Amino acid sequence: MRIEDVKVFVVNPIAAEKFEGIGHLYRRGGINYVVVKVLTDEGVYGVGEGTLHASELAVVATINHLKELLIGKDPRNTEDIWNFLHRATYWRGGPIFKTAIAAIDMALWDIKGKLANMPVYQLLGGACRKGVLVYRHADGRDPKEVVENVRKWLEQGYKVVRAQMGGYGGSGKLRHEPAEREGLPATTYFEPTRYLLEVPKLFEYLRSELGMEVELLHDVHEQLSPIEAAQLAKRLEPYRLFFLEDPVSPEHKEALAFIRSQTTTPLAIGEIFCDREQVLPLFVNRWIDYIRIAPMHVGGITEAKKIMTLAEPFGVKSAFHGAADLGPISQAAAIHVQMSIPNCGVQEWTDFRSIQVFCDLFPTPCEVRDGYAYPNEAPGLGIDFNEALAERFPYSPVYMPQIRRTDGTVHGY
Ligand code: MG
Repeated sequence: MRIEDVKVFVVNPIAAEKFEGIGHLYRRGGINYVVVKVLTDEGVYGVGEGTLHASELAVVATINHLKELLIGKDPRNTEDIWNFLHRATYWRGGPIFKTAIAAIDMALWDIKGKLANMPVYQLLGGACRKGVLVYRHADGRDPKEVVENVRKWLEQGYKVVRAQMGGYGGSGKLRHEPAEREGLPATTYFEPTRYLLEVPKLFEYLRSELGMEVELLHDVHEQLSPIEAAQLAKRLEPYRLFFLEDPVSPEHKEALAFIRSQTTTPLAIGEIFCDREQVLPLFVNRWIDYIRIAPMHVGGITEAKKIMTLAEPFGVKSAFHGAADLGPISQAAAIHVQMSIPNCGVQEWTDFRSIQVFCDLFPTPCEVRDGYAYPNEAPGLGIDFNEALAERFPYSPVYMPQIRRTDGTVHGY
C-alpha cells in the first residue's frame, strides 16, 4: 500500500456568516481551517487538520513541501513516518512544523482505522471511559450576566464552565483603538490592576449564586506576571476553581514553581506548547495539574498519546485546547486520544455539530450529550471533508488581536 497524493485545502466558513457560539474575536476575518487529505493507491483516503490560527498559510506551504517525501510511502507506518518527517528537514520542532506533521499524522491514523474497520480510539488502546468531559465558555459584561450565561450551559447538561468577564483580561481591558487600516487588527489597552481586583469578586458572586459544587474555571490567557498570577491564584482559592488556565506565558513556565508554592488552586497551561521538551519539565517538577496541549499543535495523535503517557506517572491530566480555531477534524482526533488515556481530564469544547455548515463541510462533527463528548463509531476518525462545498468558503486573511499597556508597550495576547 502506497501514498499517492497529499492534498491541502483551506476553508473559512466563518468569514462568510456569523454563528452563535463562535467567539466574537473570530468573526473579524473568520477562521481559516487547514484540511489535509492523504490518498492511497488502494482507494482508501484519510483526512487530517493543520489549522494554526493567523499562520495558516505557513502550514499549507510546509505540507506542500513535505508532500514529495511522502509519495510512495506505506501509510500504515505511522510511527516511522512521524519520526521521518520530524527529522527530515533538520530544523525539527516548532508550531508550524508540528502542525503540518499533525495534519498528516491524523490522516494516516484515519486510513489505519478504515483499514482495520475500527474507530481510532480502539487502535490506541480502547475506551477508558464512556465519554470525554467537556467545558464551555461563559462571559458577560457584569457578574450578573456571567451567572446567567453559566446557568445556560448548566441547563444544557454541561458540568464544567469557564467564567470570564468582558472577554480575556476582563475589566483590565481599558479601551479599544480601531485598526490603522482595513484588514488589520484593532488594539486593546490592558492594565492588570482592575482585572486582579475584579476577578475574585466575580467568583465570590458566582459561588454565592451557584453554590460550591458547580465546576468553574478561569482563563488568565497569559496576561499576568508571575507575582500577579500568584496573587490571583491565592485570592481565588476560597472559590474552589476546577483550574486556573494559562496563569503566565510559556516564557515564564519555571515561575509555576513559585505560584504553586503559594496556592492550592489547580493550574493548567500549555495551549501554545508544541514540543515534548517544553512540557516534560512541567510534569517532572509537578508544577501543573492539567496539560492544555492540542494533538493538532504537538504533531498529531502519535505524539499527543506519547505526551499523555509521559504525564501519567506525575498525575497530570489532559485539558486539551479546543477553542473555535481548532476545527472539527482536530477535535475528533482529540476525543479519540482522550477516550484511550487513563489520565483524561476535560476537553475545551466548541459545538460544531450544532452549526449546519460545519456538519455539511465535515460530516460529521463529534456529538456532546449531557456534558460529555463522544467519538463517532465509524472506522477511522469518523469524520469526512466535503471538498466541493469547501470551494464556496475560500481563504480570508486573519491577524491576531493586538494588546498593549496604556503607555504603548506591546503586551502578549
Ligand atoms: Mg485559553
